[in-house]
Amino acid sequence: MNIIKKKFLSIFENQVLKQGYVLEVRAWNPATFFEVDLHLPGVDMEKWTSVQHMKVKVSEYTYRDYTPALWDAETSTCTLCISSDHNGPGSAWVSSLKKGDEVSYIGIGSTFHKPVADSRLLCLGDMSSIGHFLALKQLALGIGEVYGAISFGMESHAREFSDYFDTYLQPIPEKNWDISLVSWIDAQELSTETIYIAGHIPTAMQLRRHLRQRNDFNGSIKLQGFWQ
Ligand SMILES: Cc1cc2nc3c(=O)[nH]c(=O)nc-3n(C[C@H](O)[C@H](O)[C@H](O)COP(=O)(O)OP(=O)(O)OC[C@H]3O[C@@H](n4cnc5c(N)ncnc54)[C@H](O)[C@@H]3O)c2cc1C
Repeated sequence: MNIIKKKFLSIFENQVLKQGYVLEVRAWNPATFFEVDLHLPGVDMEKWTSVQHMKVKVSEYTYRDYTPALWDAETSTCTLCISSDHNGPGSAWVSSLKKGDEVSYIGIGSTFHKPVADSRLLCLGDMSSIGHFLALKQLALGIGEVYGAISFGMESHAREFSDYFDTYLQPIPEKNWDISLVSWIDAQELSTETIYIAGHIPTAMQLRRHLRQRNDFNGSIKLQGFWQ
């Protein structure tokens, strides 16, 4: 990055960056998945009616999106669930986080995923979508039921998911993302569900194509791609 661009970005960052604070970090075993509890002073979480994403500074001039889940509006706290089983600045950042650290972020915005009233909310994704679907479940409380499948590369992570979170999201082994989720969906009867797909973009698109070919399915599909 040239010096002018750097100068411009640092002026921009000084004007817009907000701070949050790490209350706790829980690494799963092996440590390629993290739950990060954050305090976000001044954030009005009561306003959240759709799944949110926050743009976090993970290294110099580098930002990644993560999903605030399990929030408590009264204390302005939430949890990020971050997959780090790959090399990238986001993975390196989350692996280095510890209690008391300051987290800088540009802002928090809405995704297009929100619960549809009186509908069954079927969710499909990989580990990076755990926070997204926990957020959808929280928003759907008293509106509709969240269920579905999440693919896991490691059996130990699948077990931890079932132990830590009380959901109707079924952990399934990840042979090849699209194949395991396609097999799971093929075993389900479908009718008018709202289907939410998140995570790996090629898999998400493949799942949507597959679902559109189902004659028994008359519901809608909402896709939120994360990474490719
Ligand atoms: C709206 C939105 C919300 C998101 N919420 C979350 C969230 O809550 N939790 C979360 O973990 N991610 C979330 N993501 C995805 C996250 O921002 C990206 O996965 C990010 O690219 C990872 O950054 P990185 O710097 O670690 O890797 P990158 O530098 O982006 O990628 C490096 C390499 O790793 C691969 N890669 C990236 N992510 C993964 C992955 N999860 N598994 C396997 N390989 C991967 C890429 O294909 C690439 O080859 C979200 C993305 C969006 C758009």
